[in-house]
Amino acid sequence: MNSKKKLVIIGGGPAGHAAASSAARKGVDVVLIEREVIGGAAHLLDCVPSKTMIATGGAMSFTESLSGMGLENRSAEIDVAALTLRIEDIKNQLSSDVSRLLNSQGVTLVNGTARLVDKNTVHVDAADGTTHTFEADDVLISTGTRPRVPNFVTPDGDRVLTTRDCYPPRTFPESITVIGSGVTGVEFAHMFASFGAKVTLVVSRQQVLPGKDPEVAAVLEDTFLARGVRLFKGARAVGLERTETGVRVICDDGRISETTHAVFAIGSIPNTEGLGLEEIGVEMDGGYININRHCQSNIENIYAAGDVSGKLPLSSVASMQGRKVAEQIVGGPRGPHRHLDYDKAASAIFTEPEIADVGLAEAEAFASGRKIRVTKVPFSSTAKALINNDSRGFVKIISDPATGEVLGGSIVGRHAAELISVIALAVTANLKVTDIEESLMVHPALAEALAEAAE
Ligand SMILES: Cc1cc2nc3c(=O)[nH]c(=O)nc-3n(C[C@H](O)[C@H](O)[C@H](O)COP(=O)(O)OP(=O)(O)OC[C@H]3O[C@@H](n4cnc5c(N)ncnc54)[C@H](O)[C@@H]3O)c2cc1C
Repeated sequence: MNSKKKLVIIGGGPAGHAAASSAARKGVDVVLIEREVIGGAAHLLDCVPSKTMIATGGAMSFTESLSGMGLENRSAEIDVAALTLRIEDIKNQLSSDVSRLLNSQGVTLVNGTARLVDKNTVHVDAADGTTHTFEADDVLISTGTRPRVPNFVTPDGDRVLTTRDCYPPRTFPESITVIGSGVTGVEFAHMFASFGAKVTLVVSRQQVLPGKDPEVAAVLEDTFLARGVRLFKGARAVGLERTETGVRVICDDGRISETTHAVFAIGSIPNTEGLGLEEIGVEMDGGYININRHCQSNIENIYAAGDVSGKLPLSSVASMQGRKVAEQIVGGPRGPHRHLDYDKAASAIFTEPEIADVGLAEAEAFASGRKIRVTKVPFSSTAKALINNDSRGFVKIISDPATGEVLGGSIVGRHAAELISVIALAVTANLKVTDIEESLMVHPALAEALAEAAE
């Protein structure tokens, strides 16, 4: 008789496949059910294709700024077919790499739509028309989310788009209204501006990226304005009409944005309908599954990880949650970082310039009355910024004035998403500013600004 623990996972995105791989390595018998493609929406529809488009848009705008590098400016043209192929290739490669890894680890992959029958039984309607039932000691729900659209629009995949219609869009926008100015909205505004579209960004508050450090948001706003992006601040889209040439987006303050396309980036809805969760008493809030620090729902053997858990909607967080679930079902976390601390998650915004942050934010510290030490160094003080012909941005490190412990930081500028790792490590490992200051950084490198900010 097989005495291995049995884990059934519903949803093969970063949370599901990280949990599957980690649990299989720990000797658990794993079945992973995915209705579309292993890799999930992250690989197929959101994170990877959007970053691929942004990379191509970035390369395109880079060719227009070559003169400062001692070269002639060139203007590149979009080859939509080649771009589409490139996105498909990357998606397929990532998905097949993950599937191959999971197969090699003995994970049973099932292509189908799953739902819970009771807390230990999962029913699957497989893509090939067959049905299956799996018994499980533990079940992980990692079904992700989908884009939210307001009730006054019906996306048509042509002119009225959700983010998932944009890789690339059926017709390339000459002009586009981006509704929503959170992380996804500003990334899409940047992406379409890089491809030469005239962009209008509808910003419901008085700053883009509400909740982010205002100084960081201001750098992005200035760059948007310099690139000709129109900002409709303090405006909410309340209506949309089709016109002969595109769309007219109507805002609650009377402003109207008339463009060839509109894209909605106003958040997401959890994929929890039809899973049988209400029937077996799994507690949810607004459709998101409530979890404890072990990613357990109120029913001990039912876990949730990834976006569906309503925590930080990031691929990196989803994967870490998946690994923590695997640890929990084989007896609990053993390493020094036993529990996932969402406050220490690094995140990045892939705009021009790039923005990244981790840990405590300056505004948050002031709001709570906590004493902090803030040091800020512009990249222009490094040789590498001059060599790169790009001196924009800065590094900001936030530390405890009494102990020197690094509490957080933000970086704006080239490679911010890579450079933030230094501060992320310091925050997670409770390092002090002196640990960064005394690290012998490479010269010439943008990382030298980190050491300087730590002084
Ligand atoms: C435009 C955009 C850009 C992003 N960029 C980044 C980024 O740069 N960095 C970052 O860290 N994060 C990014 N994110 C967030 C990231 O994509 C999500 O955090 C991540 O996808 C969450 O992973 P997940 O495992 O929870 O779910 P998903 O990746 O959504 O996967 C869930 C899977 O479950 C499957 N599923 C659902 N219901 C069922 C069912 N009943 N039966 C079987 N299968 C089912 C779905 O088909 C899907 O494949 C971005 C998000 C968006 C929208």
